[in-house]
Amino acid sequence: MDTRTRQVEEITPSTPGLLTVYACGPTVYRYAHVGNLRTFLLTDLIRRTAEQSGLRVKLVQNITDVGHLQDDTAVDSTGEDKLLAAARAENKDPFVIARFYEDAFHTDLALLNVRPADAYPRASEWIDSMLRLVAGLIEKEHAYVGTDGSVYFAAQSFPSYGAISGNRLEDLRAGHREDAEVLAAGKRFHADWALWKSAGAQREMVWDSPWGPGFPGWHTECSAMSLELLGTTIDVHTGGIDLRFPHHEDERAQSDCFAGREVVRHWVHGEHLLFENRKMSKSTGNVVLVSDVAARGHDPLALRLAYLQQRYRQQANLSWDAIAGADKLLSRWRSAVAEWAESPSKPMCADYSTELREAFEDDLDTPRAVQVLRRLEKADLPAGSKLETFLWVDAYLGLDLARDIGKVPAALPVGAQALLDERAAARDGKDFAASDRLRDELAALGVVVKDTPAGQEWSVA
Ligand code: AMP
Ligand code: ZN
Repeated sequence: MDTRTRQVEEITPSTPGLLTVYACGPTVYRYAHVGNLRTFLLTDLIRRTAEQSGLRVKLVQNITDVGHLQDDTAVDSTGEDKLLAAARAENKDPFVIARFYEDAFHTDLALLNVRPADAYPRASEWIDSMLRLVAGLIEKEHAYVGTDGSVYFAAQSFPSYGAISGNRLEDLRAGHREDAEVLAAGKRFHADWALWKSAGAQREMVWDSPWGPGFPGWHTECSAMSLELLGTTIDVHTGGIDLRFPHHEDERAQSDCFAGREVVRHWVHGEHLLFENRKMSKSTGNVVLVSDVAARGHDPLALRLAYLQQRYRQQANLSWDAIAGADKLLSRWRSAVAEWAESPSKPMCADYSTELREAFEDDLDTPRAVQVLRRLEKADLPAGSKLETFLWVDAYLGLDLARDIGKVPAALPVGAQALLDERAAARDGKDFAASDRLRDELAALGVVVKDTPAGQEWSVA
C-alpha cells in the first residue's frame, strides 16, 4: 500500500532487476520493543517477497545515533536529544549507549530471522553528507539561516508538502502562542523545521559547520544517507505509521528539492502494534522486548509467526496468548515437516504454492498465507509434496520450518577421531588386541563403537 497515492501499487524497480529500499531504522537509546520490530519485519517481508520474484534487493537502514529529539514528532522541535537524555540517565558516554543498543538491535533482528541490510549507516558518521545537503538546499533557496543560527527548511518552498500524510501547510496554521514560539525559535514560518541546529550550550555530539557548531535535525540524516547510498531514485521507503508526519513529509521535501525530482517512488508504512490492547509505552510499564518473549520460554520466531498472522497495514494487537498459540503452531509445523521428510520428496503442490505466492504478492497478505498453510497441512496430499511446499514458502516466512528435520549427530569429544582412525587401521592390520584396547579408550570418552560389515560405526552415548 503506497501511503502517498493511497493505493496498492505494482512495484516495478526503476533499474530492471534491482529493487532499492530505504528503511528508517532505530534510534539507539533503548532496546527495540516488539512494536518497533514489527515495523522492521515489514521491510524484511518486502525484501524476501521481491527476492522470491527474482529481484536483487539493495537495502539500507539507518541507525539514528544523533539528532532525534524527545519531541521531534511535533512540527517544531526544541526538546532534548534522546541519546543525550539516555546518557545522562545511565551516566554513560552517549556513543557508548548508542553502540550498546545498536548491537542489541542486530541481535533482535537475528533472533527474528530478519535478514541484514546491505548497509547500516550511522547518522553520526555521515555529517559531511548532511552538511552538503543543507548547503545545497540553502543555495537553491529552499533553506535559510534563522536568527538563532540554526538552518531551517522553508516549508512553503515545496508546494506538494503534505502529500504523504495529508497534513497540508494551510492546515498546520499556527495559533498566537505558536507565533510567539516561531519568532523565538528564529524561523520565518511556523511549519519550517531545522535542518541543522545551532549547538547553543550543548557540548556533546556537536560538529563544526559553515553555520557554526551544531548538530543535524533528525530528518536531515535520512535524506542525506538515502541519497548518497541509493541515489536519487529509491523504489521503496519504509517505516512505522507515526513517521508519516513529520519525519517522512520533511524528508521528502528535503530530498526532492535537493535532487530536483520525486526521489521515493513508493512509501510503505507499517501500522502500529498494541500489546494486550494497550499502546506500548515506558510510562505505563507496557513495553515488551524480544528478551521478554524468550524469558517466557517462547521461541522468538513464534513472535515472527504471531506478526505474520496479522497484516502489516492494519493496527495489530499482540498478546501473550497469541504468542503462545503461535509457538504451538510453529512447533506443530516443524514436527510435521520432520515427519514428512521421512517420505520420498515429491513436486510441490502447485495450487497451494500459487496461492501462497499470490498472498505475499498481494500487498503482503500474510494472514492469508498462514491460512493456506493450515489447509495444506491437513490436505490429503503426498507427504513429500507438502514437505517441499513448506520448505519453499519458508523463504518468505523465515520461520526455520526445517529445524526438526534429521537429528544432528552429537559432536565427537576431543581426541576421539584420532582413536577411531587408529582403531580402523588396527582392524585393517588384524591387530585385534589393539582394536579392543582402543574400543575401551573410546568408551571411556563416551563413544560407543560397533563393528559392521561396512566398517566401524560410532555413536556418542
Ligand atoms: P524508533 O526507534 O523510536 O525511532 O522507532 C523505530 C521504528 O518503530 C519506527 O519506524 C517507528 O515508526 C516504529 N514504531 C514505533 N512504535 C511502534 C509500534 N507500537 N508498532 C509498530 N511500529 C512502531
Ligand atoms: Zn528516517
